[in-house]
Amino acid sequence: MAAAQRIVIDNCAIATVDAEDTEYASGHLVLAGNRIESLGAGPAPDGLENVARRIDAAGHLATPGLVNTHHHFYQWITRGLATDHNLFDWLVALYPTWARIDEPMVRAAARGSLAMMARGGVTTAMDHHYVFPHGSGDLSGAIIGAARDMGVRFTLARGSMDRSEKDGGLPPDFAVETLEDALAATEETVRTHHDPSSDAMTQVAVAPCSPFSVSTELLRRGAELARRLGVRLHTHGSETVEEEKFCHELFGMGPTDYFESTGWLGEDVWMAHCVHMNDSDIAAFARTRTGVAHCPSSNARLAAGIARVPDLLAAGVPVGLGVDGTASNESGELHTELRNALLVNRLGAHREAALNARQALRLGTYGGARVLGRADEIGSLEPGKLADLVLWRMDTLAHSSIADPVAALVLGAAAPVTASFVNGRQIVENGRLLTADEDEIARSARAEAQRLARIAGRD
Ligand SMILES: [Zn+2]
Repeated sequence: MAAAQRIVIDNCAIATVDAEDTEYASGHLVLAGNRIESLGAGPAPDGLENVARRIDAAGHLATPGLVNTHHHFYQWITRGLATDHNLFDWLVALYPTWARIDEPMVRAAARGSLAMMARGGVTTAMDHHYVFPHGSGDLSGAIIGAARDMGVRFTLARGSMDRSEKDGGLPPDFAVETLEDALAATEETVRTHHDPSSDAMTQVAVAPCSPFSVSTELLRRGAELARRLGVRLHTHGSETVEEEKFCHELFGMGPTDYFESTGWLGEDVWMAHCVHMNDSDIAAFARTRTGVAHCPSSNARLAAGIARVPDLLAAGVPVGLGVDGTASNESGELHTELRNALLVNRLGAHREAALNARQALRLGTYGGARVLGRADEIGSLEPGKLADLVLWRMDTLAHSSIADPVAALVLGAAAPVTASFVNGRQIVENGRLLTADEDEIARSARAEAQRLARIAGRD
């Protein structure tokens, strides 16, 4: 076998996000094939062989690629609707439109969502997809294909809903699957697409949607299925006061106790939001190592509240960041969530040290890798890890007067991405995708959004 080709990156600041938060004011990185071979202070060592490319990264900060831990790609074509609603009213307003999606719409929306994140430094994406209308085609295949074509590392959380209005749930009857169909299709998706290997580009998780849209039986059997197949579990939890009330009325307990009673706490589980958590809920997450996807912009957009991220971190709970679906966070970007996570968690009296810039960067990188179960492979810049990294430009008007590059990245304007690598392959150059045509994606997303509006009778 031929020796792996090397890429040498010199002259940049580096925030490794390793266990010691090691940083270099000016350092180098050497990539070999799809892995990081070495990094450190000063220039790269002389005499390296098989160097395919040298990058002078003066004026840049290198960080691990950003890891998104919660999203709903299909919402890319229903952005900007129900803009002044809380979660339950927003869902009820949008379900009838969402129930009309088909494969071309989902493909166009996935490409839009992925492109928006990738050009902002996301190297690992996830999609929690839970709307599977009858006869809508191979939606999971379309989403996974979109991520593969764009070269982004990806987890599909195969969602499901089986508790409709007639069973006391929130979605309309026509928007849900049966329990047996949901479980069978989820198992089929795992068997077809999940790659358990350490450098996997595609993984699949089992992901019933939320307590108010799935049956207790689907949660229980979904957890059993995931553990039998050896994949991770994902859902929404403790997002709003209305959800808390729903759980008390239907199940006689709060969301965290309900999740525990159905097998949904554990180190193989991560949950979106976790806003309304009391001390004993946080202790239960810490004891079981259940992960959290913190989605500050979506929580603000839907007036859901502020997750207790500093308390979760202090308790040892794994926490990553999520864009959430773009019907509740129209920007669709993750790099701006670093800033929003820090700002939102400082709101309130005496919270000036609630979350610092380095913690925010860690949430968006290593924290995300941890909740996706991939912290041994991605999320920090260390020799032997996969070559997923970003070069952020720090010498332009937006950032050049800020001496600390991590503070500049987190607190400053959204930083331009000069280069982004996934698995050793460059997918972004100077803010533009190398693996897809952004203009074509924008055109097809607009056309599919208009087609959906027509079919759903909004036009
Ligand atoms: Zn969500």
